Amino acid sequence: MAIPISQMWTVAAYVLKQKLQGRKRYPLVLMLEPLFRCNLACAGCGKIQYPAHILKQNMPPEECFRAVEECGAPIVSIPGGEPLLHPQIHEIVEGLIARRKYIYLCTNALLLKEKLHLFRPSKYLTFSVHLDGQKEHHDFSVCREGGYEIAVEAIREAVRRGFRVTTNTTLFDGADPRSVRAFFDEMMDLGVEGMMLSPGYAYEKAPNQELWLQRERTKKLFRLILSNRKKQWVFNLSPLFMEFLMGLRELACTPWGMPTYNLFGWQRPCYVQQDGYAETFQELMEETEWERYGPESGNPKCQNCMMHSGFEATAVNHTFSGWRGFLDTVRATFALYPDPEAAEELEKLPPAPHPWELVQIGGANRERTS
Ligand code: SF4
Repeated sequence: MAIPISQMWTVAAYVLKQKLQGRKRYPLVLMLEPLFRCNLACAGCGKIQYPAHILKQNMPPEECFRAVEECGAPIVSIPGGEPLLHPQIHEIVEGLIARRKYIYLCTNALLLKEKLHLFRPSKYLTFSVHLDGQKEHHDFSVCREGGYEIAVEAIREAVRRGFRVTTNTTLFDGADPRSVRAFFDEMMDLGVEGMMLSPGYAYEKAPNQELWLQRERTKKLFRLILSNRKKQWVFNLSPLFMEFLMGLRELACTPWGMPTYNLFGWQRPCYVQQDGYAETFQELMEETEWERYGPESGNPKCQNCMMHSGFEATAVNHTFSGWRGFLDTVRATFALYPDPEAAEELEKLPPAPHPWELVQIGGANRERTS
């Protein structure tokens, strides 16, 4: 199954409307976090470090709908925490489908199989399953033995029942490009609609800071992974954003492109940084000092960031900025990026250490929590 034409058309029509209205800043995807609670404790997560009284809170569906209407973005991504732990998640999803929003429900899939009956297949609903690579890499990343198998089984069942399913992968320092490429093959064989990739962001609250990628290392890693692409790989990302990850083009950050609403309100300035909260979406857009953010601003918290939540909206905006952007996108959509140097480098890479060995090399002290 490919992205429905109706979704592509909705996004294209929305962006063109914003441009015709001369709107300089507009949201593309609302990141709606209806809870921070999770059934995993990933070392890279900056969301689950809140105190217990925050972690047990659930955003009521009416508040979710209010935020979605205030924002107006055509796509709503529901991360968390683990959204399937929200006792009213099916009501939230139904309400968003009724509002014709395209939903990406981000889940670690530990509960997906047993909760699938709460949902009905719809072109508006996609389960975006968090999988950080092949079995040993994913289990290491989420600190849970067996997490990969549970997620894969849930993907199989969701695809079998006719749901749209994508994967969502965060890559950290030490990621093995050959293994990531083999992971792409595994996911396409499972029948997922597309794959999403992002380098991790060094949340201040997250432990194990030594695992985060620096910008140049990010570009090198993604060049090895995404050059010499196989035709059967389908990505659920703007092709221009992928060129940015590979170091083939520069993009500025568009933090308002994917605004975040969570239990504290509208988060400034973006999904990964917390520089206070606004009470309304209008206040977020009008009163945030946007020039203080993005790598070009000199803000040290932005220097190594290449997150899709900051830069993908810039890529989409470029697509619709004129013929040049449109043609760049068409070319990038079909390009396989042949790169003999990258192929040779990939070939010569020494066998990657097991992820647990990497932790020992880094001197980190990470406990298994399975
Ligand atoms: S560069 Fe990254 S951290 Fe900085 S505002 Fe943009 S998305 Fe947020």
